Amino acid sequence: MEERPLILVDVDGVLNPFRRPGTAWQSHTCTAAGVAFALWLNPDHGPRLLALARETGADLVWATTWEHDANAGIGPIIGLPELPVIEVHKGRGLEDPGCCWKIPSVAEYVNRRPFVWFDDGLGRIDRLWLEAHPNVDRFRLLHIGGNRGIRDAHFRQARDWLTSAA
Ligand SMILES: [Mg+2]
Repeated sequence: MEERPLILVDVDGVLNPFRRPGTAWQSHTCTAAGVAFALWLNPDHGPRLLALARETGADLVWATTWEHDANAGIGPIIGLPELPVIEVHKGRGLEDPGCCWKIPSVAEYVNRRPFVWFDDGLGRIDRLWLEAHPNVDRFRLLHIGGNRGIRDAHFRQARDWLTSAA
C-alpha cells in the first residue's frame, strides 16, 4: 500500500500575504525566535486545509521559515492542530545556486511520498532539482503569488492533483 501523500504549507506569502487581500484577513502579531511580526491571517484557511487533507487522505506538514513557531503562533489562530514540521533550516546551503533553500530539507523529509507544496518562492529550477533527487517521487508545486496569498484556485489544483495521484 502506498504511503499517504503530504500537503506542505508555507506561511509568508501563502497564509500570510504581503498585502491584505480582503476583510477576511485579520491582523495578528506572532513571534518567531523571540521576534514579533505582524501578519495577515484568514481564519477560513485552517478548516479549508484540514478539509483538503481529510478529503484526499493526505497529511498536512509545515514547510516554512517559522518551523516550530508555526505550531505555537499561527496554527491556533487559523484553527489548525499541531502539525509535523519540516526543519527547513537544517538543509540550508545544500541546494544548487538559484534554488529555494528549503528544498534539501523537503527532499529528505518526503522520502518518496507524493506531495503538493504551497509556496510563494518556487520555480522551474526547483522543480528540476526535485525531479532529479532520488528521495523524491511524484509532486506538484503550487506557486502562490505572495501579494495575495493562497486562493481558491490553489485549493482546487491541490485537490485535483491529490485525487488523481491516489
Ligand atoms: Mg514564503
